[in-house]
Amino acid sequence: MRDPHDSASSAADDSASPTTAPETSAEQASPPRREFKARGSFVRRCDECNLPALNCLCPYRVTADSRSRVWLLTHPLEHYKPTNTGRLIRDVLPTTEVFTWYRTAPDPRLLALLADERYAPFVVFPDDQDDYAHRVVSMERVVARQCEGRIPVFVILDGTWRQARRIFRRSPYLAELPVLPLSTERLSRYRLRKAASAAHLCTAEVAVELLRQAGDEAAAGRLDDYFDVFNDNYAASRRHGKIEAPTPAMQRLLAARADTQA
Ligand SMILES: [Zn+2]
Repeated sequence: MRDPHDSASSAADDSASPTTAPETSAEQASPPRREFKARGSFVRRCDECNLPALNCLCPYRVTADSRSRVWLLTHPLEHYKPTNTGRLIRDVLPTTEVFTWYRTAPDPRLLALLADERYAPFVVFPDDQDDYAHRVVSMERVVARQCEGRIPVFVILDGTWRQARRIFRRSPYLAELPVLPLSTERLSRYRLRKAASAAHLCTAEVAVELLRQAGDEAAAGRLDDYFDVFNDNYAASRRHGKIEAPTPAMQRLLAARADTQA
């Protein structure tokens, strides 16, 4: 049944939560101890970026500074998937914090950071339900907190829509945070998973748009380029091809990298 290569035909298998598997047992179990093996198991991957070595992402890795920060609260089933784009954010913005979400055991470090007065955390989530309408704020609030000298933090729930909704609903420590819905015209360019709609952005794209709207244009642009290179390289590997001519995003990242190393 499995294609021994990293086939696009199975690209949809992590786009939606499995409807048959009981989610509770998966959430409470330990994270998978080994890399996600469902597909691409026979492809040689780079140890650093986890992409197929043919189209390794490492030459394009360049960091950026940003005034806002990102903390990812990642569903355990998402953590080890090579198509996860949350990890791209940490590659570009080294201040990014990544926490694995467990329903019954919140990460003490996350709790400490949420209580830290230096930060103004916002949980990024759609404003489509009435029961938390009183918590919904807009990007102006983010900018206002920045003006008060606090560091705005986008808490992004990293998982499928269904997983994100569970994290939002079942994490009491998020219940006091302002809710920031992402309002954008952007359509997803992510090609590695089949989304229900082009309006559903992947995690890295969500971060790009938040950073851009909060005034961190340079960091947003760099992350967007890095995301594009990831997207292109991964898709090329599925076709067993190598990208020979550098794309504009690749050229910008290589130039930025040469600058930082000069
Ligand atoms: Zn690599």
